[in-house]
Amino acid sequence: MNSISKTAAKIKEELSQPNEKSDAKQDGMQHTRASLGESLKKERKNKVMHGQYIRNIDRQLISEEDMFLWLSKGDLKAETESEIVAAQDQALQTKYYATKILDTETDSKCRLCQQFDETIDHIISACLILAKQQYIKRHDRVCAQLHFNICKETGVQLDKKHCMNMCQKTVETRKGGKVTTLWNQQVQTDRTIPTNKPDIIIRDNEKGTCMLIDVAISGDRNVI
Ligand SMILES: [Zn+2]
Repeated sequence: MNSISKTAAKIKEELSQPNEKSDAKQDGMQHTRASLGESLKKERKNKVMHGQYIRNIDRQLISEEDMFLWLSKGDLKAETESEIVAAQDQALQTKYYATKILDTETDSKCRLCQQFDETIDHIISACLILAKQQYIKRHDRVCAQLHFNICKETGVQLDKKHCMNMCQKTVETRKGGKVTTLWNQQVQTDRTIPTNKPDIIIRDNEKGTCMLIDVAISGDRNVI
């Protein structure tokens, strides 16, 4: 942080120096911008935790452009954005971080399940205790949002009962019931299939086809 302030002060000083030719001034500004960029890059490279999320992402599975789409929207507070980026870089104060990086703890096991290292990845997608309730709640909220969007796309008139946290079991488009969207319903099959309840089924009643959607929220390092 100190070195950033020093660099900024240096640039300010350089920019405030009188310059007779505007072209030269322009060149000077470009040069200082470039050197600021370089010094920031160098500083970041020296910090092991920073940027590990980007380094570890499998670009064949996850699109680099889509990965940062949420940042381009600008609808989150700066503090929230930085908290999420810190979590992606595994730089929040988990017990694992306190044990291995800060050296302020000796036990790195998860406070809830006591079985695995308390890393960010463990908290967001692998804790057996959180899986029983919190992961299900998160999954259902994502499904509810998806269901809401499908209803809008297929022209379903949403009433007051339909909110983002709750899906109606069956909804149909008003234009002659062309598309039926089912939420969390069992499918009757000839053979017994134990997992016969997809999250969302979109049934096109004219074509006689169904699209099954099952939502899974996996960690970025655990896509397959
Ligand atoms: Zn745990």
